[in-house]
Amino acid sequence: MTHDLPGDVVPHRAASEPSERSKNTSRVFWQLMMKVCLVAALTHAVFGVLFYALGAWMLAWVNVGSVTLFLASYGLIRQRRNQMAVVLVFVEIFGHAALAVHMIGWDSGFHYYLLLVAPVVIMSNLSKTSHKLLMTSSVCAFYMLLDATVRASAPLHTLHPGVLNALRYFNILVTFGLLTYLAMLYLGMIKKAEKQLLVMASTDPLTKLNNRRRVTEIIEYEITRSKRMPRTLCFVLGDIDHFKAINDRHGHEGGDQVLIEVSQALRAAVREQDSVGRWGGEEFLVVLPNTELDGAELVAERIRNALGEMQVMAGGEAVAVTMTLGLSSCREGENMEAAIARADEALYRGKAAGRNRLELEQRGV
Ligand code: GH3
Ligand code: MG
Ligand code: MG
Repeated sequence: MTHDLPGDVVPHRAASEPSERSKNTSRVFWQLMMKVCLVAALTHAVFGVLFYALGAWMLAWVNVGSVTLFLASYGLIRQRRNQMAVVLVFVEIFGHAALAVHMIGWDSGFHYYLLLVAPVVIMSNLSKTSHKLLMTSSVCAFYMLLDATVRASAPLHTLHPGVLNALRYFNILVTFGLLTYLAMLYLGMIKKAEKQLLVMASTDPLTKLNNRRRVTEIIEYEITRSKRMPRTLCFVLGDIDHFKAINDRHGHEGGDQVLIEVSQALRAAVREQDSVGRWGGEEFLVVLPNTELDGAELVAERIRNALGEMQVMAGGEAVAVTMTLGLSSCREGENMEAAIARADEALYRGKAAGRNRLELEQRGV
């Protein structure tokens, strides 16, 4: 019987997936940037009104400029002109921080927003890592330059100390809030990617069944469990009959459709606690934990009958599918290879005896 890995048979499917993933990550990032632009535009509009009310005209105009820049960036990202949008956001953050601390003093806390640039630049997919590091170093240098030139100098507008304090605390809160949000978003992206990787590593891409690696893990787990709590573990190894002829007659895609529908029928024929895996090209392994041989025989017959009643539409033609099955049980102290080899031997006998039949392991072998 063939024991080639499904991944070897259909490599093109696995190869296309990483780029899909990075596209998703990029989409999530730009969606976040659009939200940030809208929230920033709104916040600056509120600031504009506040400064207008306090009589700080110049600062009110700075905020009008900020609202315009953030709204323009939002529009640019919508049109997928991401690089231009980032330039505008940078102009706003650098310009606003520099103007605000010059005009109302270092204690206003507008320079904290510069700290947000580092995580956003690193998370973005804009450029090479070396460019990203250069950008974050430039922000750091700019921050220190502002500190060195502005901290000790007198502001152009002297705000009421209470207003200045309120402004600083507000800026601290927003900076912390945005940093926390960015970190949570990043963690969420990592967890999602981890989940996708786990699914990819254990699933056959064509049939969505467990792949051979995952089935092996499941069997090892079941064997370890049966050592603590003795119970019978059965294996049904099934191989589609004359599958090569199906491929020859209906094309590789027709063959693939047969594999998909056979997989669905196998899953439907077993209990929740049973596992079905793609063991090789057109070979499937059903793992039946806590099942005696006679119970497993019923399951295997149910599978054979379900396939017998099935017609798969491949290339506009109905295809009848049959399967030959071999059944074995895992004996106490036995490893999985020996038990599966007996199912394989039974399957081979079934093929030799004319196919579309179930054969049991030979006892005493
Ligand atoms: P038998 O009844 O003795 O099992 O004969 P068979 O034709 O089913 O067996 P054989 O091992 O000669 O052929 C299996 C074929 O399955 C050969 C291989 O090209 C095809 N195959 C393996 N994996 C895939 C797949 O993912 N998709 C398709 N369409 N065909 C596959
Ligand atoms: Mg085969
Ligand atoms: Mg076959």
